[in-house]
Amino acid sequence: MPDTFVIAPPAVPRVPVQGGGAFPVRRIFCVGRNYAAHVREMGGDPKAELPFFFTKPADAIVINGAATPYPPATADFHHEMELVVAIGTGGTDIDEATAPSHIFGYAAGLDMTRRDLQADARKAGRPWDMAKGFDHSAPIGEIVPAARIGHPAAGRITLRVNGTVRQDADLADMIWPVPAIIAALSRLVTLAPGDLIFTGTPEGVSAVVRGDRLEGEIAVVGSLHTLLV
Ligand code: MN
Repeated sequence: MPDTFVIAPPAVPRVPVQGGGAFPVRRIFCVGRNYAAHVREMGGDPKAELPFFFTKPADAIVINGAATPYPPATADFHHEMELVVAIGTGGTDIDEATAPSHIFGYAAGLDMTRRDLQADARKAGRPWDMAKGFDHSAPIGEIVPAARIGHPAAGRITLRVNGTVRQDADLADMIWPVPAIIAALSRLVTLAPGDLIFTGTPEGVSAVVRGDRLEGEIAVVGSLHTLLV
């Protein structure tokens, strides 16, 4: 194997960690439809639908406080406030009981979505990639180590736009709690250190425009903010 790259290799995306250091991002997985009230607002039936997974590129992250560019090709750009899990040790077929031991920490995150492209994709039976996995689609706050806060299964999760509360729910309302998500995902892929999992959004998603200031907060875990430009 040649040891020189023919172009400069990309830098490893990284997220600052509370207390020092940076978390290297390997992959970004996201859970769809994990809060019943959000499933209903999207026109689904929570009893009929199981959560499922989609992905974003690792370099879609936007560091806390940095501006988020309004993306091209949409007129309906939505916020989805979510708890993010940072995987510290990987594995396959992880069971729910041991799942927490694979978690390095947690963060507040936004699964930014081009809702009009998602609606078109759903209608046509096409993939969601361009609705979900575009540039700058994953703003994320500082990662707080589980060693500091444990594993929060409940707690208020909110998203404010220009100071007005748009999303206000509790982590306890997840259909699939974090250990169940890790167990399910690790049966589909081998989880690896550096993987991030966005765990789904509660109700209250809505459109934002250039100039809007987004502020998310999750009790115990932390906060994030970004300005759409
Ligand atoms: Mn989401």
